[in-house]
Amino acid sequence: MDSQLDNIGEAVRRILDTIPPDVVLIAAGKTRTVEEIDAAIQAGVTHVGYNYIQEAIPIIQAIGHRVSWHMIGHLQRNKAKLAVQYFDMIETVDSWRIAQALDHHCENLEKIMPILVEINSGNESNKTGVIPDAVDELVHRISKLKHIHVEGLMTMGPRFGDPEESRPYFKATREVFERIAARHLPNVSMRYLSMGMSNSYRIAIEEGANIVRIGTKLFGERQ
Ligand SMILES: *Cc1c(COP(=O)(O)O)cnc(C)c1O
Repeated sequence: MDSQLDNIGEAVRRILDTIPPDVVLIAAGKTRTVEEIDAAIQAGVTHVGYNYIQEAIPIIQAIGHRVSWHMIGHLQRNKAKLAVQYFDMIETVDSWRIAQALDHHCENLEKIMPILVEINSGNESNKTGVIPDAVDELVHRISKLKHIHVEGLMTMGPRFGDPEESRPYFKATREVFERIAARHLPNVSMRYLSMGMSNSYRIAIEEGANIVRIGTKLFGERQ
C-alpha cells in the first residue's frame, strides 16, 4: 500500500476515535479515486457522500453497497431518477419540485428513500437549501408523499476561516430541527442532523450534529 493511502487510513482512524460513537462520519468523496475511497472504507468508513451523480456512479459501481451512499450536492430534477437508483440517502432536498420528482421515481422503483431537507441556514441568496422560515411548510407537504421519508435536516452554512463563526448557524439549524421534531408529523422521523465539515465538525457536534461530512481532513487538500 502506498503512503498516501496509509495517510488516509490514519486520518480516518483518528477522526473515528475522536467523534462520539453515535455520530456518523460521511467521507465526502468528490475528486477522489476509487483507491482513495477504498482506503477510507478499509479504515472504517461506512458512509460516503458525493455531490455529482455522474462522478458517483462509476465509484458506486466499483465499490458496491457494502457502504451507504449519500447524495450531498445540489440535485437537479433531471437527475432525480439516477439519484434514487444509486443513492441510499438524499441529503439535499430543498424544494417541493425535487421532492415530488424523487417520490415519483421511488414509486416506480418500489422503494422508499430516506431524505434530509437542506436548510440555507445563512439565508444566503446565492446558496441552495430552503430558508429557515420556509422549512416547516416544505416538510409538512413532503410528509404527504409516500415514497420519500424525511429523516432530518442538513446544512452547509456560510464558510468561515474561524469555525467558531459557524456556531450560530448550526444552533439555528438545531432549533428548526427541534421545532419540526416536536410536531410529530406522520412519515417524518427527525433522526439526523447533518452539519459540519473538515474545519467545523467539532463545533457542529457540540451543537447537535450526528452526521458530519468530511473530505479534506481525510483525503488531503483537493487539487
Ligand atoms: C466537499 C463537501 C464537504 C466536505 O468538505 P471538506 O471541507 O473538504 O471537509 C462536506 N459537505 C459538502 C456538501 C461538500 O460538498
